[in-house]
Amino acid sequence: MSETVNAETGNTDTVNTEQLIIIGSGPAGYTAAIYAARAGLKPLVLAGSVTAGGALMNTTEVENFPGFPGGIQGPELMDGLQEQAEKFGAQVVFDDVTEVTLTGHLKRVVTGGGDVHEAPAVILATGSAYKELGLPEEKKLSGHGVSWCATCDGFFFREQDIIVVGGGDSAMEEAMFLTRFGKSVTVVVRKGELRASRIMAQRAKDNPKISFAWNSAITAIHGDGKVTGVTLTDTRSGETREQSATGIFVAIGHVPRTELVAGQVDLDEEGYIKVDSPTTVTNLSGVFACGDAVDHRYRQAITAAGTGCAAALDAERYLAALEDADSIATALVEEPTHA
Ligand code: NDP
Repeated sequence: MSETVNAETGNTDTVNTEQLIIIGSGPAGYTAAIYAARAGLKPLVLAGSVTAGGALMNTTEVENFPGFPGGIQGPELMDGLQEQAEKFGAQVVFDDVTEVTLTGHLKRVVTGGGDVHEAPAVILATGSAYKELGLPEEKKLSGHGVSWCATCDGFFFREQDIIVVGGGDSAMEEAMFLTRFGKSVTVVVRKGELRASRIMAQRAKDNPKISFAWNSAITAIHGDGKVTGVTLTDTRSGETREQSATGIFVAIGHVPRTELVAGQVDLDEEGYIKVDSPTTVTNLSGVFACGDAVDHRYRQAITAAGTGCAAALDAERYLAALEDADSIATALVEEPTHA
């Protein structure tokens, strides 16, 4: 621990010095933490205040994570990963990162709680966030019929008409889960086909409570304080029609959560962090990135965990090389060669 004067406020900040800081606590962040902790690096995991555990906290059953033949609930898997990381010495702090300075030898990370941490290595595992439709009523009616999480909110729509937007695996999963509660579930798909995997698509199509509105886009959400219905526009003919519903679940994919590091770490045109694949090395030395903040192709819990492991190994090697360089420099100072 050390103290520095904050250039902006003039106050003295207490700075906690770590070997490795991991930002994010999804499968990528926690797997990085498990590997780094087992390597004795005592990583600090800044897990987020409300989003801790990442996207799997909003998932029900995960059927395809290797090692769980009977499936496992998303939150249970995340609790297990956290416990495993802590068992090996990771410190998990449930606070949001509000500011980072990733250039220079020591990277600086400031949290919403006002803590300042520095470390020579940082792993970015910030994941991705739900994509929005971009309609003005969407935000206004969020929590009043518009939702991004069937697991969290499905219960409120017992015996009601529900709409799910999207044609991917998330939309199929949400739709099937919502049939437990709703009277009907209409999946609104902007194309004439699904992007979902064959098995998920078939399950949804076989479910008698689920119907599909093909080639349709929601162009308006109606309701005064509470959702009552939507306007659907045919994406080919432009014709519109009204459909009543009290719940709208948006499941149209994700956007990377990289605003925090934009302008410092190189991002691609969609905002994902660029790494020197197959490594997790970014354009900044000592900064590594993994999980959904990097990967827009696979986006599975297991692939995120895999890149989290790679990031920890990359960080460990980087820190070992720094230590070697430091000890060589110290040895040269202590034992100058005599000509
Ligand atoms: P995807 O990107 O796979 O699918 C997004 C869907 O939303 C597409 O059908 C897309 O349409 C549609 N869409 C995108 N933007 C809009 C918009 N503005 N308006 C209307 N529709 C829109 O995202 P998912 O979240 O479904 O899946 C992400 C990854 O996670 C995938 O790899 C998936 O396999 C995986 N996953 C796996 C699960 C499992 O195996 N249990 C469960 C959930 C996710 P279009 O096709 O026209 O682009």
